[in-house]
Amino acid sequence: MRADTSETDPVSLLRSEAEQRASMITVTSMRVDLDLTSATLEGAAGELFASTTTIDFRATPGGRTFLDFKGRRLISATLNGTALPAESWRNGRIELTGLAEANTVVVSGEMAYSSDGEGLHRHVDPADGHTYLYAMSFLDAAPRWFACFDQPDLKSPYAFEVTAPEEWTVIGNGPAEKVGPGRWRIVQERPLSTYFVTLVAGPYASVRHRHDGIELGFHVRASLGEQLQAEAKDLIEVTSQAFDYYHRTFGVRYPFGEYHQAFVPDFNAGAMENPGCITIRDQLIYRSRATTAQRAGRAGLIAHEMAHQWFGDLVTMTWWDDLWLNESFAEYVAHRCCTDATRYPLWMEFGIRKDWGRIADQAPSTHPVAGNGSADAQAALQDFDGISYAKGAAVLRQLVAYLGDDVFLGGLKDYFARHAYGNAEFADLIAAWTRAGAVDLDRWAANWLRTSGLDTLAVADGAVRRIAPADHPADRTHAIEVARLDEGGAVAERTRIQLAGTPHPALSRSKGLIVPDAADETWAKIAFDGGDWPRLTAVIGGITDPAIRLVVFNAARDAVRDAALDPAEALRLILAALPAETEDVVWEAMARFARTELTGPYCPPAERAARQAELHRVTLAAMAAAAAGSDRQLLAFRAAIPTAADPELLRGWLGGETLPAGLELDQDLSWGLVSRLSELTGDAGLIEERLAADRSALAEQHAARARAALPTAEAKAAAWELLLRPSTGSAYQVYATAEGFFRPDQDELAADYVRRYFDEIGATAGFRTGWALGRTAELAYPYLAVSEEILALAEQTLAGDGLADPLRRALIDGTDRLRRAVAARRRFG
Ligand SMILES: [Zn+2]
Repeated sequence: MRADTSETDPVSLLRSEAEQRASMITVTSMRVDLDLTSATLEGAAGELFASTTTIDFRATPGGRTFLDFKGRRLISATLNGTALPAESWRNGRIELTGLAEANTVVVSGEMAYSSDGEGLHRHVDPADGHTYLYAMSFLDAAPRWFACFDQPDLKSPYAFEVTAPEEWTVIGNGPAEKVGPGRWRIVQERPLSTYFVTLVAGPYASVRHRHDGIELGFHVRASLGEQLQAEAKDLIEVTSQAFDYYHRTFGVRYPFGEYHQAFVPDFNAGAMENPGCITIRDQLIYRSRATTAQRAGRAGLIAHEMAHQWFGDLVTMTWWDDLWLNESFAEYVAHRCCTDATRYPLWMEFGIRKDWGRIADQAPSTHPVAGNGSADAQAALQDFDGISYAKGAAVLRQLVAYLGDDVFLGGLKDYFARHAYGNAEFADLIAAWTRAGAVDLDRWAANWLRTSGLDTLAVADGAVRRIAPADHPADRTHAIEVARLDEGGAVAERTRIQLAGTPHPALSRSKGLIVPDAADETWAKIAFDGGDWPRLTAVIGGITDPAIRLVVFNAARDAVRDAALDPAEALRLILAALPAETEDVVWEAMARFARTELTGPYCPPAERAARQAELHRVTLAAMAAAAAGSDRQLLAFRAAIPTAADPELLRGWLGGETLPAGLELDQDLSWGLVSRLSELTGDAGLIEERLAADRSALAEQHAARARAALPTAEAKAAAWELLLRPSTGSAYQVYATAEGFFRPDQDELAADYVRRYFDEIGATAGFRTGWALGRTAELAYPYLAVSEEILALAEQTLAGDGLADPLRRALIDGTDRLRRAVAARRRFG
């Protein structure tokens, strides 16, 4: 044991500590020197790197504070030239005492590369053996790669000096300049918060472009370089259009100089909004054919991260309790930007994504969008979910309906101008909107943003009424459209209403189906009368307005989960709807819901084969009806593969003999076929054969998923080891294994593991942390084991104490899903 290695675990920063520290110090400059060649470290090539940080800061003289350092080893630390004792480093913090008015602290450490996507992540590409690095500092991982005062409201300019292998490209939050062989300097004069400082280094392949005076860079690992070239035109177009849109809309130009988008491996989130250099998952540089709907989703993500350059990066939240505001805002504005300024209209996708938020808002773990307090940094992460994104964005959309666009945008411009390069709170934004003309916004926010849960808009006797949830009552007025459909599904009548406390009798004078929120504008659950469902099934194929179909589908998903709609009837509705559905994003989501839920946990095992066969027939018919080479043909084929039960059919497709014209067996389709075929037949050789033909990182994930799904005791035992024991596998391989493990039709094989999941999952906190810990538990949750007995076991596990927070959250949500399936089976069989 070396005296300079801390034996204590880092602790999460308390809000009170952050407030105290911010009142005491001002950071004036950050200089970070990294050696990524390991030349200065002994015998640890590839595992460790050297990091030296020099921080200039002003302080209340005589005071004390601490900085954050989560290295492997502290080599040295000095404050104003005096060495600090090794014991000053504890719990991931270095104590600083006897501060002067102007101070300089220098910290040198040995740091470990990470494999879980947080800190400085290291990936070796199996395609060619090249090494790629990228840094993810969110939410409190910055001290894993450099010493700092890690909180959002201690911003500072940064200068990085980096030593890297000669052939590497190095980029970061500011322009990167090569100053010597393998030596780079990156300077960002604009103040940055620690959580969005990044570095991307490796033999990345790049495309560069210039738009409206802004240098654009797109980067991906070399083995995807050709694919990046193919995607570059679309990426450049969307990025340029979004810049133009935000410049028009926000009244402040993009402030960080160059704008890089690094597509990186093993990325946990969709993307991260580091100023000047976003990191984004490299699955979005497609290796296989992608549909327009996929590209639209990618455009939404690009526009989302760009919106953050203003909202989050230019003006940053003071503390994590306003994290929701960053996400809700970026989500809402990005959908608007793509719809108004690119060729990817996104409101349908917005409506589909709302399901994510409605599930979260009806789970026992629900919480208000705003104002949870976030007593410490890690607590904030627990509330970072579908409520922050989908619900928050939908509520902002209602806010725009309430304020009007002029007030909404006027307030935003005021907010950016007033708080540029600094920090602000939600109250500051409310004040800005109020200055722009908003009235009574505090009351509005209390009802929509500071109260959990959602209203139900119910149709009964031809009238629409608002029902507030009993456990979270609130007074919300919904600005919505109501439509009446005729016998064929066409809109016979449509009207705008303000729905508050009293039922709205609109349209009650006529017969026909009434659809509340017909334009999908509010945040609510739509409940049809029980007798309406067979009538909706009868007309769904004739409803010509896509937004109305979307509202019906979302209502069906909620009603199934509430045990208010027989899953068999929901399946009839979807099967009747798919042939006429014009929106690919909706078609894909509803076919997926039918497969994963209606023929999964919401289906009695005895009926599973028959329901799956029906769904399969509909996907085959959709393939046959679609034009050769069309997106719909591809979507239908993708949906047909996992519902196929006949190995001969799959073999014919895989061999190419019976593959319909217009489809080509690219990597993804080949993997889909091999996965399904090996799951049905138990033939592990197929997976290894495919892997020999495709040595990419993505192939390793496909293989991990397929191996876990094999119907043999040996395969399950091996997969279980990967899931529940420490290993050197990447987090992505663990996620893929979790996704493949519990499969329909493997109940007997899985029975023991269902019980073991609840016994053993708690111990994974001993070797996994953060995102990877919760995500693995969530993906591996045995939600197909629908029985009262397993539900009781799950509840008993939750009642015990000692579960780490991310595990507890994953188990609460998984158990809510299981409980709903049990209730539906109790009622409908
Ligand atoms: Zn975001």
